[in-house]
Amino acid sequence: MTIDKRPDFLIIGAGIVGLTIALELHNQFPDTKIAIIEKEMQPGMHSSGRNSGVLHAGFYYTADSLKARLCRDGNFAWRHYCEENNLTLNHCGKLVVARNEEELNGLDELARRAEVNNVELKMISAAESAEIEPQAYTYERALWSPTTATVNPKEVVNSVLNKIMSKGISILNDTAYIKRSGDEVITSNGKFAPGYLINTAGLYADKVAVDFGFSKNYKILPFKGLYLYANDTGLKLKTNVYPVPDLRNPFLGVHFTVTAENKTKIGPTAIPAFWRENYTGWNKFNLEELVDIVGIDASLFLANNFGFRKLAFKEMQKYSKKKLVQLAGTLLNSINQNDFKKWGEPGIRAQLINVKTKELEMDFKYEGDDKSFHVLNAVSPAFTCALPFSELLVSEIKEKLNG
Ligand SMILES: Cc1cc2nc3c(=O)[nH]c(=O)nc-3n(C[C@H](O)[C@H](O)[C@H](O)COP(=O)(O)OP(=O)(O)OC[C@H]3O[C@@H](n4cnc5c(N)ncnc54)[C@H](O)[C@@H]3O)c2cc1C
Repeated sequence: MTIDKRPDFLIIGAGIVGLTIALELHNQFPDTKIAIIEKEMQPGMHSSGRNSGVLHAGFYYTADSLKARLCRDGNFAWRHYCEENNLTLNHCGKLVVARNEEELNGLDELARRAEVNNVELKMISAAESAEIEPQAYTYERALWSPTTATVNPKEVVNSVLNKIMSKGISILNDTAYIKRSGDEVITSNGKFAPGYLINTAGLYADKVAVDFGFSKNYKILPFKGLYLYANDTGLKLKTNVYPVPDLRNPFLGVHFTVTAENKTKIGPTAIPAFWRENYTGWNKFNLEELVDIVGIDASLFLANNFGFRKLAFKEMQKYSKKKLVQLAGTLLNSINQNDFKKWGEPGIRAQLINVKTKELEMDFKYEGDDKSFHVLNAVSPAFTCALPFSELLVSEIKEKLNG
């Protein structure tokens, strides 16, 4: 393929956000040249292909957040997309169960958020919860989300990729952004001179943004999500079973997911990772990142703003299969350790932290001007939100371009 090194729009990173932005740009600017560069050999090798595949319903987020509206609309949009394109879609729903008296307040708060966000969610009794999933342990009450569903994230990414290619958008794999040089961009595949640059580089989005004068107060802090699968003959749940989350941090607590293919898995964890692509062992070890991340983790540990100390201690224990099964088991009436032997492919969350306030950013974050645009905090549920999120981002880009 001949590579046009002067596209109107150059997107860095072919995760679900970069891919859906490309589609939306093509819709809005059909006569422009759009190119995506991706450092891996194919799209979706990081968060977008390694997530839980849950189409969240949108009841976790406060009404003033982008996540609230985009999640509700994104859930609907992907369900429709999957049906239209014959992709695997499991309408399995979700139970959020209280395990003790204290957690009932958390259920009430989620129910309030669902109402304000206009998301379908039902408060149910322990008996009703047992009818939906007899193995779930419910103290007095639970929440039932009928619109939560699961997809196969890799299948979704490939479907969007095929659409993109059919529209003549160029995808250049094995092409890493290296640095900016004036109006040009240096990559591992030569120089590009884009009309406008869009950074959707996931775990590296902050690094790219800094080259363009953005992300001054932010850094990405990686958190590792491990998964543990039930044996084929082991535990089989009918629905996703989640705990009441600690709403001070963006993670949902260890839970059970029923995959699009009807397998049951525990996870993901939110274990502080030591470098950005610290998936397994010493793979992709990066000393500079290690030093930087340990420094941030140490300052969070001291400040303890959002209960980081407890979170870090609790999460580190989850490297042990036994401990992870035991913790997840508190969501069920009983659990058999022997059902869980196989780790799944881990994912890493590209969580943005404000280095000045030492707080994790809870909502999506982006910055830009008339030359470049940077998506800095496309954390969960950005997969669910991707279609309406990309519409919003392209309208923001349009505004920047029109001055
Ligand atoms: C464990 C886990 C579970 C999750 N579960 C869910 C869920 O159930 N539901 C949900 O809605 N969301 C979930 N999420 C969140 C969701 O996966 C992400 O929000 C979403 O995938 C982010 O997409 P992205 O395109 O921004 O990032 P990515 O998919 O990470 O894409 C970024 C791309 O940029 C490329 N890149 C990076 N640097 C460069 C460079 N220098 N040059 C060129 N390319 C570069 C990368 O290779 C990558 O392909 C989960 C995330 C994790 C980690």
